[in-house]
Amino acid sequence: MTIIKEMFENNKKWAKKLKRKDTDFFSKLSKQQHPQYLWIGCADSRVPANEIVGLMPGELFVHRNIANMVIHTDLNCLSVAQYAIDVLKVRHIIICGHYGCGGISAALKDTATGLSANWIRHIQDIAEKYKPNLKKETDIKQKINVMCELNIAEQVYNLARNSVAQDAWEKQKLTIHGWVYDIEDGLLNDLYCNITDTSILEEKHSAVIEKIFKKYNID
Ligand SMILES: [Zn+2]
Repeated sequence: MTIIKEMFENNKKWAKKLKRKDTDFFSKLSKQQHPQYLWIGCADSRVPANEIVGLMPGELFVHRNIANMVIHTDLNCLSVAQYAIDVLKVRHIIICGHYGCGGISAALKDTATGLSANWIRHIQDIAEKYKPNLKKETDIKQKINVMCELNIAEQVYNLARNSVAQDAWEKQKLTIHGWVYDIEDGLLNDLYCNITDTSILEEKHSAVIEKIFKKYNID
């Protein structure tokens, strides 16, 4: 059996299994979705959003791109966030990176090619911003992990400063979380960014960055 054929067979088994648990599962889901959370994560195949947090179809609204970035002009990501907030009324946005991220690695080693090299440039800008601290870490694997955390802090900051989040805070509750997933043990690390409004943004952001520097002894 070809792999593609096998995927369709797997799909039939999966749908059957869910229907066995709840006969109306798909008919209920087809009428409406009520996810409580928006997940902005890396496109990496080892980080399946729903699975690692034990949520079912319909429970997590998802956007993924290389190195889980929130870029001020990325209409794709920002439209997802705006729709999630305004229409789906999600109250929690989780930006989740992962240790050993290929996008971060390519940025630090300057190995990205083609169109993706432009995207990765944003990560290189962050590395440049924190260059004096990053220089203190000589082990490349560890440096990539430091950058994975710094990147999350920066992306949380980017989203919090964007008009999509700023508008949301004028009318509803919204918390932006920053997490990093460890592909080596399957566990999530909460960086405790937890931005709940603009007034705490700058202070929280600096505190999270300081905490990362302390943790890796590069302050
Ligand atoms: Zn990645």
